[in-house]
Amino acid sequence: MTDDDRKLLTEKLLGEEWHEWFDDGGKHFSEWRSYTCGICGKNVESPVEPANRTFLAWQDVGDVKDKLVEKGMWREFENHAYSLGGYEGPAAMSDIIDGKYVVYYPSEFTVWLFRPVNEKGEAHFCQLAVDFLMEVDK
Ligand SMILES: [Zn+2]
Repeated sequence: MTDDDRKLLTEKLLGEEWHEWFDDGGKHFSEWRSYTCGICGKNVESPVEPANRTFLAWQDVGDVKDKLVEKGMWREFENHAYSLGGYEGPAAMSDIIDGKYVVYYPSEFTVWLFRPVNEKGEAHFCQLAVDFLMEVDK
């Protein structure tokens, strides 16, 4: 996952600030040092590390999932993740119910989808969300 990917999720999807702290030489808080964010201008005594979400943690997966649901994009995201082809378990089933086409994903797919990281230790769920958002944005 690139910094651009992480920025996209942080700012565009979650609506949070992206921070890039630099040592401002104690300009604020009259301490030995303090830090200012070059992006939003916020000042802090000591920045929380990491400065930005890694999108490798369960908290990130949960927050991204909640936001996709809140924005009404969950179903489309699920379809997108399934159609990418990385998932190799049992196939989805579909049916027509009350004239509506409905797809059911097997629990194996849910287990695969909700992995914070893949077998290489790279972002999985949140990377799929990035790929999806870039596709929607086209
Ligand atoms: Zn900032």
